[in-house]
Amino acid sequence: MSKIILTGDRPTGKLHVGHYVGSLKGRVELQNSGAYDEVFIMIADAQALTDNADNPEKVRQNIIEVALDYLSCGLDPEKATILIQSQIPELCELSFYYMNLVTVSRLQRNPTVKSEIQMRNFEASIPVGFFTYPISQAADITAFKATTVPVGEDQLPMLEQTKEIVRKFNSVYGETLVEPEVLLPSNQACLRLPGTDGKAKMSKSLNNCIYLSDSPDDVKKKIMNMFTDPNHLKVSDPGRVEGNPVFIYLDAFCQDHHFEEFLPEYANLDELKAHYTRGGLGDVKVKRFLNEVIQEELEPIRKRRKEYEKDIPAIYEILKKGSEKAEEIAAKTLSEVKAAMKINYFDDAELIQEQAERFRK
Ligand code: ATP
Ligand code: MG
Repeated sequence: MSKIILTGDRPTGKLHVGHYVGSLKGRVELQNSGAYDEVFIMIADAQALTDNADNPEKVRQNIIEVALDYLSCGLDPEKATILIQSQIPELCELSFYYMNLVTVSRLQRNPTVKSEIQMRNFEASIPVGFFTYPISQAADITAFKATTVPVGEDQLPMLEQTKEIVRKFNSVYGETLVEPEVLLPSNQACLRLPGTDGKAKMSKSLNNCIYLSDSPDDVKKKIMNMFTDPNHLKVSDPGRVEGNPVFIYLDAFCQDHHFEEFLPEYANLDELKAHYTRGGLGDVKVKRFLNEVIQEELEPIRKRRKEYEKDIPAIYEILKKGSEKAEEIAAKTLSEVKAAMKINYFDDAELIQEQAERFRK
């Protein structure tokens, strides 16, 4: 069986370092591993509109931002197909049929949707489209027969929902769809990177992000203002590294060679953590080190972005070609789905024959 990747992002803002460690960096590695037959990367504009219906301009502006972030992180249009969700109408058709296989109470139980509804203060005014986005995500994944979906931890309930739809569809209509596997980052700290404010998740909607395209000065400012252990007031105080976002970011980004380069008094992160825990190590020193580490990771990304920014029409061309290729594949899956559901009347010679005989009698 082919090995196929599908993943994507909502164009609701520029991408941040949470996206980078949670999914983007891994995607580039998977793309370059040669182990996959196809890699599909989707800019989920239709999904972004489910909670931004009154702000289409925001979505429109951010398509190019997300595309630039992709390319500057190393996604290569020669190896990966980058597509725009709304340009593949087959995805809507698939969603429409999958809706019959999911109950309202099942959607209400989805913990990610629950917390997103709370975050957006939707309460009773949830748009139906937002409420049903896990179904549309199942359409995205199955349209490309994805076997592997590399995402952050917050997407686990979506993958569960997709698997249920696949099983239900295949059991009712016959083996047609492929059940995907989730691929989470192996580094624990990258599963759900917290915000600079210490909130559980760095998220465009929460304004607590370090963006991949932030200037070096902005990155530094954000890091120096980061939330740390609130009880670590004096340098001599013992500090907590658990739940401390500065140390979680170090877990996500730092490697031993960074110590040699920027902080040679320590051999590795364990030694730094031990010093912080027993007291005598100030936040400022740790933040300065984190700044060096993150700047080193972001610098080549910023440089490549500057290059890509010089030819924006070429980027739209990449997106157009990717969307066209994606549509061909989605159309093939949709026709298989319709055949399985027996709603392919005009291709169904047997049906026409059967009906003709019935009326001849
Ligand atoms: P929004 O607030 O608009 O939902 P978002 O920041 O959650 O935006 P998405 O586009 O929903 O971003 O997520 C894209 C991908 O990035 C998903 O695979 C998601 O799991 C991953 N991701 C997003 N935020 C983080 C994070 N803080 N840590 C790890 N992975 C993340
Ligand atoms: Mg999200």
